[in-house]
Amino acid sequence: MRTHQYRDIICDTCTCRHLSADDIYDEVRAKEPKIGRATVYRNIESMAEQGILRRFPWINGKTYYECNNETHAHLVEDASGMFCDFPMEHIQVNNIPEWYEVSEIRIQIRKK
Ligand SMILES: [Zn+2]
Repeated sequence: MRTHQYRDIICDTCTCRHLSADDIYDEVRAKEPKIGRATVYRNIESMAEQGILRRFPWINGKTYYECNNETHAHLVEDASGMFCDFPMEHIQVNNIPEWYEVSEIRIQIRKK
């Protein structure tokens, strides 16, 4: 199987979800039983570097990945491990110098 086919499987697995590399490996392996962990991890890192996957390090002690490239924030709850999308319509960004525009925002909102 060629690399781009692995990428399709990884992206299908991650769309609208936040998964650790181990979670992705488990789900990809269920579809492609012969695939090795190193191959999946290498593809994940390559996809993250190319911006196909978004990487979120150190959320509840893990690094998570997702394929949702729409700008959105995340709600994080350390106690329960919850990590979910939060719509940007509810977030205001103020005091940006007028000669700049917001091109990407990464916001994580943690429960107190
Ligand atoms: Zn997300």
